[in-house]
Amino acid sequence: MQLLDTHGRIATDLRVSLTDRCNLRCQYCMPPEGLDWMPTEEVLADDELIRLIRIGVELLGVRDVRFTGGEPLLRRGLPGIVAATKALEGTPRTAITSNGLGLKHTARALAEAGLDRVNVSLDTTDPETFRTITRRDRLDDVLDGLAAAKAAGMTPVKVNAVLLRGINDLEAPDLLRWCLKHEYELRFIEQMPLDAQHGWSREAMVTADETLALLSEHVDLEPQGGRGSAPAERFLVDGGPQTVGIIGSVTRPFCGDCNRVRLTADGQVRNCLFAREESDLRAALRGGASDEDIAHRWVAAMATKLPGHGINDPSFLQPTRPMSSIGG
Ligand code: SAM
Ligand code: SF4
Repeated sequence: MQLLDTHGRIATDLRVSLTDRCNLRCQYCMPPEGLDWMPTEEVLADDELIRLIRIGVELLGVRDVRFTGGEPLLRRGLPGIVAATKALEGTPRTAITSNGLGLKHTARALAEAGLDRVNVSLDTTDPETFRTITRRDRLDDVLDGLAAAKAAGMTPVKVNAVLLRGINDLEAPDLLRWCLKHEYELRFIEQMPLDAQHGWSREAMVTADETLALLSEHVDLEPQGGRGSAPAERFLVDGGPQTVGIIGSVTRPFCGDCNRVRLTADGQVRNCLFAREESDLRAALRGGASDEDIAHRWVAAMATKLPGHGINDPSFLQPTRPMSSIGG
């Protein structure tokens, strides 16, 4: 069995949201007061989660497992979940996407548990701008987390940045210089309409073209081919070897090559970030379904995967779940 959709795409990259909670309040993601978090009994327990990941990997061909959220480091069982995933047949590649808070204390244990890679979200290295974007004064913790991930050998450490017009867009070249100096691989992600407060607007979004123009005033960028199913278009910086990535989710969609599927912390399969429907694997799991039955439900969930996210269609409707609850 495999996670094949009706457009011929096969999902082998599973994004698992471990929690919808977070200790930052990034403007493009959450309102200042946070959100109504999922009730604990709705969130999959570690053993339930590991069972679903096992079904994905051992029965359905998943090769990569990325843990995200919310903030995945807030999940106490994370090292155990990583170790259990790494021990599965076929030894999937493992990664987390994290805001980096607390990574300083956990990077080594996570690497020892088998975590291969870390993406840390960092939009600025200016403490004031950091506070404006995340509404918390925690820049130093993120920088320490990045350094700890590198020291623990989870390289190349990647940095994800979202540019906000009038807030950090003009800092993009500085952020790139800083990442090059520390040997972190920077990728700029276009802001998507996935914030809980529905504040996204096309005009405010800093596009991939604008980002490239901003960077090109300071560095020479040479496009690298061979993007495959990776969302980032990569550019050699000043002749290389280091690169910068641009993820034009809105203006340069990569849906035709998508190999992803998502599992939320409350056990719902989503075949796309922007899907408006979910499949409830938790109900099946708690109702006593066999592994094969759950696998069949998962396969069926892929059939409704649309060819594209539709953000650029006039009829586009933002999904009900925000990014922090889907798992970015
Ligand atoms: N808390 C972790 C973090 O910030 O890395 C993991 C979850 S977060 C939702 C995953 C990624 O989504 C982060 O890199 C974040 O910058 C990005 N993100 C959040 N909201 C976004 C939006 N509206 N548009 C584009 N990227 C967004
Ligand atoms: Fe938290 Fe990540 Fe959302 Fe920022 S982007 S509020 S760190 S979940």
